[in-house]
Amino acid sequence: MITILTHPDERLTKYCMHVTVVTPEVRHEIIRMLTAMHMNNGIGLAAPQLGIAKRIIVINMDLIEDKPAKMEGNAVFIDPYITVKEGDTYLHKEQCLSIPGVTVEVPRYPEVKVAYTNLEGRREFIVARGLFAAVLQHEIDHIEGKLIIDYLNKGRPVDFLD
Ligand SMILES: [Zn+2]
Repeated sequence: MITILTHPDERLTKYCMHVTVVTPEVRHEIIRMLTAMHMNNGIGLAAPQLGIAKRIIVINMDLIEDKPAKMEGNAVFIDPYITVKEGDTYLHKEQCLSIPGVTVEVPRYPEVKVAYTNLEGRREFIVARGLFAAVLQHEIDHIEGKLIIDYLNKGRPVDFLD
């Protein structure tokens, strides 16, 4: 059983470390992240949600319809960085495995370009739109120590679900 940390665990609020080399340890952590994501039917997961203070995120591309060709199944983004944000932000309803039962409308860009390191250690980039772009922004927020409830400071509405 892999435990996903929940708010207000302070490990969810830390800026995470860069990953410059894809070591066997990093690969092992990624496998744990993918397992935790699938066990919880998550669309994405960030390393700090397992208490790993590293800049690694995973996304289940099978839950995303509008995506680049050839991206299916598990996608892993090491050291992801948003290089371009396109368009005007819109409010996207989001939930988070680390804040059960809460939905927040979060301002997201409709399109982002993200640079990242792949599992082979090569730097790549991807252009994401719609839900894929929103999930990338959500997970990249996590490795900056930012949660969806942090957007409430800006007066965004929230629903509490039971
Ligand atoms: Zn989350």
